[in-house]
Amino acid sequence: MENTETQKLKEELFNVKKTGWEEMSEETRKAVFKFADEYMDYLNLSKTEKEIVKNSKDILQKNGFVDLQEKQDLKPGDKVFFVNRDRTIFAAVMGEETLENGIRMIAAHGDSPRIDLKPNPLYEDSGLGLFKTHYYGGIKKYQWTNIPLSMHATFVKPNGEKIEVNIGEEEGDPIFTISDLLPHLANQQMERKLKEGVQGEELNIVAGSIPFEDEKISEKIKLNLLKLLYDKYGIKEIDFTSAEVEFVPAYKAKSLGLDSSMVAAYGQDDKVCCYTSLRGILDIGTPKNTAVCVLTDKEEIGFCGVTGMESKTFEYFITELLNKEGQNKPNALEKVFHHSKVISADVDGAFDPTFPASFDKINSCFIGKGPTIVKYTGSRGKSGASESPAEFVAEVRGIFEKSGVMYQSSELGKVDLGGGGTIAVVLANRGMSVIDCGVPVLAMHSPYEITSKFDVYEAYRAYEAFYKG
Ligand code: MN
Ligand code: MN
Repeated sequence: MENTETQKLKEELFNVKKTGWEEMSEETRKAVFKFADEYMDYLNLSKTEKEIVKNSKDILQKNGFVDLQEKQDLKPGDKVFFVNRDRTIFAAVMGEETLENGIRMIAAHGDSPRIDLKPNPLYEDSGLGLFKTHYYGGIKKYQWTNIPLSMHATFVKPNGEKIEVNIGEEEGDPIFTISDLLPHLANQQMERKLKEGVQGEELNIVAGSIPFEDEKISEKIKLNLLKLLYDKYGIKEIDFTSAEVEFVPAYKAKSLGLDSSMVAAYGQDDKVCCYTSLRGILDIGTPKNTAVCVLTDKEEIGFCGVTGMESKTFEYFITELLNKEGQNKPNALEKVFHHSKVISADVDGAFDPTFPASFDKINSCFIGKGPTIVKYTGSRGKSGASESPAEFVAEVRGIFEKSGVMYQSSELGKVDLGGGGTIAVVLANRGMSVIDCGVPVLAMHSPYEITSKFDVYEAYRAYEAFYKG
C-alpha cells in the first residue's frame, strides 16, 4: 500500500483518465440518457447527407435560425443558415466582435460509408432482378452482405422535377439485401483473403423476382420492376442516369448493452459529431466571436466536389456574412480565416479489446472517457496531416478544462499500421487554426457502429464550450 503523500503526488503528476460514468451525479446521468434518446431519433431520420441537411435545417429553424438569403444585414446575436445544394449546411450565430477577428467553427460531415447504385444498375439474371452497385467510402465489403438495406434515392428529371424514393425504413416496407454465397459451396471463396472475401463487383442487390406476364417478351422481371417504379414514381430506366440511389442499413438506432450505456447505429461516423456540434450552437446567446457550425458532404471520398469541404462555396458563405455585416473589403476573407479557430469534429477509432494488436494502448482513445483530441492524423510519419500547433491544442484544452469537460487525447492505431485523414487539413490550408476532436467509435465504418452515450453528451458539452470561447 502506497502512503498517502506518494499517492497524492502520483494523482497530481499522472494523467489518468477515468470513465465518465464514475462519480456521475443522478442529474447528469438523466441528462446523458435523455440526450442519447434525442440523438437516436435524429439518426433514425437522417441516414444520408441530404437527410442530415434537411433535418438539421428543421432543428435550426425551430431554434430561431433563418435563411441567410432572407437577411439584408447582420448584427450580433443574429442566427442564420446557408444550404449548399441540399447536401451541406452552414449555420452561424453572429458574435460581438467583427468577423475580421475570426470565427469559432466546428465542422463535421454528414456523409457516411454506404452502397450506391451504378448509373445503369438494373438487370435480370436467372430469375432475379438485381442492382449493380459501387460502394461509397472505405468499407469492409463482407460486412455489407445479408443485412437489411433501405433505399434512399433522389431522381431528377431534365425538367428539374425531383422524385424522392425511400423504401425500407417504415414498418411494413420491403427491404433489400446483398446475398453472399452459402458456406456449403464456399470452399474456394473461403480461401480468398478477407479483403477479397466479397469483391466490389459481387455487391449486387437483390431487387425482385416476379416476371411481367407476357410469354413472348424477354427480361420480364426487369420489365416488371421498371413498371412498378413507373406506376408509383414515374421513373424510367433512363432516369437512373440523373439519380443518387443510396442503400444504407435499414437498422434503427438502439441502446446497446445490459446497462443501455451505448448507442448502436448506422452512420455515427460522423453523424454523432453533426448532432452534437449542431445542438451545441443552438443555445449560446451572443458569443464573443461569430460561431459557425458546418455539416459538410463528401468527406468519406476525399473532401472534394462542389459540396465537399474543399468547395469554394464555403468562401462564398463567409463572404456573404462579411457583406451583410458591412465589413467586406480586399483581404477581409483571408483575415477572417487567419484569425479563426476550428474544431474538425470527426470520430476516432476506439480501442477494441478484441483486437489489441492494432492499437497502441497508451495512445488510444476509449469508449466512455469523453471526446478525444487528435493533434495529428495522417499515416507513416504523420504524412498528409495538418498537425495542430501546441499553442492551439493548449487553448482548446484550456476551454475544456475550464468547463469541466472530460476529454482524452489519442492517435489512430499503431505507427505504420494504417491511418486516416479528416477535413482538418482542408481548413488548415485556408489559414485557420484547426484541431481534430471527436467521439470514439467502435466498429467504425461498419453497418452498425458503437458509441458511448457519455461521450456523445460530453462532445456536445465540449463543442458548446468551444463556440462560447
Ligand atoms: Mn469521419
Ligand atoms: Mn469515416
